[in-house]
Amino acid sequence: MQQDVIIIGGSYAGMAAALQLLRARRRVAIIDEGIRRNRFASHSHGFLGQDGIAPGEIAATARAQLSAYPTLTWIEGRAVTASGKQDAFVVTTADGASFEGRRLLFATGVKDGLPDIEGLAERWGRSAFHCPYCHGYELNEGEIAVIAASPMSIHQAQLIPEWGKVTFFTNGAIALDKEGRADLVKRGVTIDETPIVRLEGLAEVVLTDGRRLPFSGLFVATRTTPASDIAERFGCEIEETPMGLQIRATAAKETTIPGAYACGDVGRVPHSVSLAVGDGAWAGAQLHRSLVFG
Ligand SMILES: Cc1cc2nc3c(=O)[nH]c(=O)nc-3n(C[C@H](O)[C@H](O)[C@H](O)COP(=O)(O)OP(=O)(O)OC[C@H]3O[C@@H](n4cnc5c(N)ncnc54)[C@H](O)[C@@H]3O)c2cc1C
Repeated sequence: MQQDVIIIGGSYAGMAAALQLLRARRRVAIIDEGIRRNRFASHSHGFLGQDGIAPGEIAATARAQLSAYPTLTWIEGRAVTASGKQDAFVVTTADGASFEGRRLLFATGVKDGLPDIEGLAERWGRSAFHCPYCHGYELNEGEIAVIAASPMSIHQAQLIPEWGKVTFFTNGAIALDKEGRADLVKRGVTIDETPIVRLEGLAEVVLTDGRRLPFSGLFVATRTTPASDIAERFGCEIEETPMGLQIRATAAKETTIPGAYACGDVGRVPHSVSLAVGDGAWAGAQLHRSLVFG
């Protein structure tokens, strides 16, 4: 049976969009692989009403609530191709099934490109983070390391003193000019240009000169790219943002392919659960508007 909307990605953004559509009694199929971006973290912060709850629990509660709507079809698995056009999209999954929909929504999220530092990947989401609003408070105004990875790291080093005493490791990734250096010093940031060898313990930075500096936590500005290339292969335009790559979408969340929409981390910056949910709810309403008014 043809769906009104096929949603690829059933996490915070995709489910928020689905909720609006299901409550308008529209037929919605969600195809989801269940690999959420924040799966590395034990707790999620900053989402009103769900502060400090495990990321998987937030998603499970949302899915249970969606399941009460009879026009939802939930497909566990990976969507591999999208084709067709408005009113006649087709999505196929890795197990060879295919689904037809009048509209399409990419809520596929992004993945984080971490700098190549020994010990960083194991600490990602545990003591190493990208977003101070999500994980800064729990560091209890302690010593915080900001490790440079891109020009965005300078912005992080300027902002994160709000959450603790910052040491900024340039680690050969960026060059600070005189003005940038003076600004950081003014904010109480210690600048350390010695290259990092590896990370150890909770958040200990081991440097090439033999020093070992312990921290309460680390921040790294990752480069994000779409978690799946399905939208790009379909022909949606991809655009560069200060944080990485995302699907280009209008204010109404429509991509460069009419009838195909994008929301959540893959369709906006900056990124958080709250913003993904808000973006998803907006995309759901816009998809509904498009179904009603063409
Ligand atoms: C370590 C870490 C900690 C974080 N902590 C917080 C926090 O405390 N608070 C906060 O607000 N934000 C936090 N974030 C940010 C938060 O994870 C994202 O903003 C949020 O997950 C975005 O939601 P989304 O629905 O857009 O994408 P995601 O949650 O990443 O979900 C995308 C979904 O699409 C699915 N998918 C992708 N491609 C396909 C495909 N081809 N077929 C089928 N399914 C597919 C994935 O499997 C996944 O289920 C954190 C991020 C990281 C990396």
